Amino acid sequence: MAHVVVLGAGLGGTIMAYELRDELAGEHKVSVINNGSHYSFVPSNPWVAVGWRDRQAVEIDLAPVLARRNIGFHPQGARRVHPAERTVELNDGSSVSYDYLVIATGPELAFDEIEGLGPEHNTQSVCHIDHALKTREAFDALVARPGPVVIGAVQGASCFGPAYEFTFILDKALRDARVRDRVPMTFVTSEPYIGHLGLDGVGDTKGLLESEMRQHHIKWICNARVDKVEPGKMFVQEIADDGSVRQAHELPHAFAMMLPAFRGVAAVRGIEGLTNPRGFIVVDKHQRNAAFPEIFAVGVCVAIPPIGKTPVPVGVPKTGFMIESMVTATARNIGRLVKGEEPDAQGTWNAVCLADFGDSGVAFVAQPQIPPRNVNWSSSGKWVHTAKVGFEKYFLHKIRTGKSEPFYERLALQALGIDKLKQIKVEAAPD
Ligand code: FAD
Repeated sequence: MAHVVVLGAGLGGTIMAYELRDELAGEHKVSVINNGSHYSFVPSNPWVAVGWRDRQAVEIDLAPVLARRNIGFHPQGARRVHPAERTVELNDGSSVSYDYLVIATGPELAFDEIEGLGPEHNTQSVCHIDHALKTREAFDALVARPGPVVIGAVQGASCFGPAYEFTFILDKALRDARVRDRVPMTFVTSEPYIGHLGLDGVGDTKGLLESEMRQHHIKWICNARVDKVEPGKMFVQEIADDGSVRQAHELPHAFAMMLPAFRGVAAVRGIEGLTNPRGFIVVDKHQRNAAFPEIFAVGVCVAIPPIGKTPVPVGVPKTGFMIESMVTATARNIGRLVKGEEPDAQGTWNAVCLADFGDSGVAFVAQPQIPPRNVNWSSSGKWVHTAKVGFEKYFLHKIRTGKSEPFYERLALQALGIDKLKQIKVEAAPD
């Protein structure tokens, strides 16, 4: 009998546990360790931050779902992974041993790398539901006392989509509140150009997003390095291609929301052979760590090198569909190992994204993630907003029912030509 432990029950970890339960025979044990007992749908946080959703609408109590699916649950969280002993030390001092471990801990938010950044200091965040609820209070204060707004993503950030989303969602919410005319908005980003998204653009995301910015009267600063944030003032340097400072900006703000850089969580950071210098888990094409082959990783915690050199560092985003492809590959590979076979599945890591703008949005598909690509498509329209709302309801239904990929999702993805697993061409051996 094998015990497979999933560490982290976010977007990747929950469906990882469900797919493992489907993959493994009943005698094998699957357990989940998470910080807390609730699943929270992170992509809804920009809506929470302007009051379009509340906590109840985007959270699910995992305990009954996991119990129903015969999956063990440790909501006390992990203090440290001990790969040599194949155990995970929990925050209450107890420990859980494993035969296979899947790390799905998402990111630690590195606000501390910039003076004055983050919800404890002078900028808001939408990365966590608690942050989004606090941002909602700041939004209400902004509506009561309108003033300049700064939104964006700092140096080293990898998650740009939510920064664009929140910009346009806030624009819509301020228009609805009839105060947008008193709120000058500036988008500040480490990307070398608008719509780069850490992917060197997808289709014409540059043209689409620049056009949206112009139409919504939003100014922008690219190649931006945020030096510090004081109450009401952000200090930004615009960096030229040769690394010199092209222009320094002091941006006054009544409200600011900046996506931070990410790093690996403390429970794994600094484990020789397991993580890179920023604490992300190093995996091979089968999602497996070479130094500790019984450890796999999925989601934002996986190490992916940047797509190319940029004047200010930017990371590669790890979006939902890409994470699901990692999950499906990992479930199959662990299933094979348990049966005494070698891993063979590779996730496609395709980037498929719906960026909501409150009443419209931008969608893109990058197949593969790194250019040149076979599919390099982006589009915009009101349909993206409708599709995003549908995706939220559908994903939460999936988590609530404990099922990962129902039949009709498989059909829809196949119809679109989007695969989760790479089709490996097996050459016939010469006679
Ligand atoms: P998470 O969902 O963050 O889950 C990590 C889990 O691990 C959490 O439950 C956490 O509590 C747990 N954990 C962490 N440390 C420990 C520990 N020591 N012990 C136990 N548990 C631990 N992608 C899209 O494709 N579409 C979108 O619209 C989209 N919107 C996004 C909006 C925002 C604001 C952000 C930040 C990201 C968005 N993404 C989106 C990107 C990505 O899909 C999400 O970040 C997604 O939640 C990542 O999934 P994950 O499983 O890697 O991490």
